[in-house]
Amino acid sequence: MEKFEFTEHSHRRYNPLTGDWILVSPHRTKRPWQGKVEKVNQEKRPEYDPKCYLCPGNERAGGKTNPDYKDTFVFQNDFSALLPEVPEGEFTKGELFRAKSEQGICKVICFSPRHDLTIPEMDVKSIRKVVDLWTKEYEEIGKLDYIKHVQIFENKGDIMGCSNPHPHGQIWGQESIPTEPAKELAKQAEYYKKHGKTLLGDYLEQEIESGERILVENDYFVALVPFWATWPYEAMILSKRAVGSLTGLSDEERNGLADCYKKLTVMYDNLFETSFPYSAGLHQAPTDGNDHPEWHLHMHFYPPLLRSATVKKFMVGYEMMANPQRDITAEQSAEKLRSLSKIHYKLNQ
Ligand code: ZN
Repeated sequence: MEKFEFTEHSHRRYNPLTGDWILVSPHRTKRPWQGKVEKVNQEKRPEYDPKCYLCPGNERAGGKTNPDYKDTFVFQNDFSALLPEVPEGEFTKGELFRAKSEQGICKVICFSPRHDLTIPEMDVKSIRKVVDLWTKEYEEIGKLDYIKHVQIFENKGDIMGCSNPHPHGQIWGQESIPTEPAKELAKQAEYYKKHGKTLLGDYLEQEIESGERILVENDYFVALVPFWATWPYEAMILSKRAVGSLTGLSDEERNGLADCYKKLTVMYDNLFETSFPYSAGLHQAPTDGNDHPEWHLHMHFYPPLLRSATVKKFMVGYEMMANPQRDITAEQSAEKLRSLSKIHYKLNQ
């Protein structure tokens, strides 16, 4: 038998943040791809769309009118999944039937008044304004006494179920800590208790030393493909300094985050010369009134594209029944992304 090499042979990788495992099958990348590669229709969007409910000055479905905003704009979602006024209640029947009321708040945040832009096409100064608004909202929503967790996220692209191409994201605050952050909270707390340092701080130190999975690095932030990446081009942005949330960042650090966010998403767009779809979200310390020295600020990017602008990774079959599986390794993805131009492809045309 030959010697085990994790770049060559099937193996499982552990995600220390959640405790989950994924199956990696590097030998399968040698399998010929027989699907068709479609050319995507690159629609050119107008700077202002009179029918868009997020553009400045337009009326929204709920009947409210957007102000003539110049940078960012935030408003309470007209179709919120969570509402502040929910009667408190519980339903239990034996051990097997449990339900509980959930209070919360949902907001929408427009990143720019320009209908035709996306984060990778915006300048760092404008992205910094998005970071500032995220910080303000995390702080304000987190301060409400019934809110224990604030989830800031962005769905980009219609295959991610994003209904409007206008650059925007969402903020959901709620009274319980949802499943994914709860797993990460438990793992980070366990690690911090054992080592007196953050799990992601130690992880980042070793990633910087190896360099193998690093995509972008500035003085304050790093973007990398995590060792345990599940999605083909999954990435994570981490702060170099161990801070729990955006509110702990200095002025320069906020610029560093904006810079990192832009550079990573430019790589993404350049990969298949398309507006690269993803779901991205910030993971910050719970706002439950306790100190969380174990929590290390980070942002996840889960993009579904696999081989082209139209060939998407599906989490079906084995992945639904057992655990996620991938063919290209995290190292191969990182190498591919790093090899791309740092200039957005639209500017090169
Ligand atoms: Zn996380």
